[in-house]
Amino acid sequence: MNRKTSLQLISTLSDANGPSGFEDEVIALGRKTAKDFAAVSEDSLRNLYLSRRENTGTRPMVMLDAHADEVGFMIRTILPNGTMKFMPLGGWSSYTVPASKVRVRALDGSWISGVVASRPVHYMSAAERGKSPEIADMVIDIGATSAEEAVSFGMAVGAPVVPDVSFEYNEKNGVMLGKAFDCRVGCSALCDVLRELSGEELAVDVTGVFTSQEEVGDRGVQVAAQTVHPDLAIVFEGAPADDTFLPEAEIQTGMGRGAMLRHIDVGMITNPRLMRYTLDLAHENGIPVQEAVRTGGRTNGAQINLTGQGVPTVVISVPVRYAHTHHGFSSISDYENVVRLAVQLVRSLDEEVISTF
Ligand SMILES: [Zn+2]
Repeated sequence: MNRKTSLQLISTLSDANGPSGFEDEVIALGRKTAKDFAAVSEDSLRNLYLSRRENTGTRPMVMLDAHADEVGFMIRTILPNGTMKFMPLGGWSSYTVPASKVRVRALDGSWISGVVASRPVHYMSAAERGKSPEIADMVIDIGATSAEEAVSFGMAVGAPVVPDVSFEYNEKNGVMLGKAFDCRVGCSALCDVLRELSGEELAVDVTGVFTSQEEVGDRGVQVAAQTVHPDLAIVFEGAPADDTFLPEAEIQTGMGRGAMLRHIDVGMITNPRLMRYTLDLAHENGIPVQEAVRTGGRTNGAQINLTGQGVPTVVISVPVRYAHTHHGFSSISDYENVVRLAVQLVRSLDEEVISTF
């Protein structure tokens, strides 16, 4: 694994515009990256399948999953003053949305800069200053002064919107800053795992999937899991970090503390035998891991583990500070540990091992 190559991929994936249902740019990057080491195909939900060229079709199938979409918004109404009402795509907290810069897709496919408008403080009562508006009451302003002008810029009902953020990397501490690390760090990890294993003799087949529409309810993965028919799955995630607001003893997803594995979340109890096996493997290989017991959150694993006869599924995450807001921080060392662990896990699998889960 080459850190420079990984950072380059994470950077382009993070900057790509891909809210739920509009994953096209992310898919295009996946195609371009994986064409050297995988057979590439796509379905009409915009799930991108990256199958190892060495797959035989006769061995257990290991599915690697990472969702391509990011939380964003969609334009609902263009108002006479040129601003636009919008709705969330995925889970946003309303107090993180105002006064942020966004990109809105115009009808010609270009992306136009806008801001989530907020009433100037000079026009607020004391009571208004203290409270955060609902997303339904907010508007996006692209600088137009009438609905006609907004339409002339290619604005239309149904246009997707993403945060306008550019990737940055701090070499001094190996920390990345950007948008959509949930789950573009996962998409990148999936590619790096396939790249690492490329040309290697394995006892399993491996297909990676960039899945669509996770943030609106695990939708793309339902089709992907039926298509791949996995015998075991590894889900990559950018998981919300907890280390800036919890006391030390309760931190389970800290930035720079290693790959995060969850025993449980709202959608899945991780197969305890696969969980133990993966943790032991990490310890044997000196790969730092964190164990989380999550009372919130869910991943695509919730769907995959309930397909077929039941699929042992483990979720390996890179902690992301401030997931589901415009800006996140993640550590490149956590990312590399996620890739290392997944590579070791795939290498260790065969039909017999999988049958013990
Ligand atoms: Zn995610």
